[in-house]
Amino acid sequence: MKDFCLKCGSEMSPGEYTCKVCGQNDMDEYRLIRNYVRSFPNSNAMQIANATGISVSKILRYIRDGSLTVVDSHTRRGR
Ligand SMILES: [Zn+2]
Repeated sequence: MKDFCLKCGSEMSPGEYTCKVCGQNDMDEYRLIRNYVRSFPNSNAMQIANATGISVSKILRYIRDGSLTVVDSHTRRGR
């Protein structure tokens, strides 16, 4: 699965958080989100976005990539 830089759209290696092309570092944002989720494990993307100032679409990307585990009461609980 390929990752793409959130800033310039360049291809990034999976698990890489620093873009080789433009130097954009997603790790800071990732860390912010992760810290928030750790403190508030039941947050959804919207709450994280409000708390961190990071856009919902970016947060969803982190979650979709499996970088973050956020409990979503609707999707995670079903079986
Ligand atoms: Zn880039």
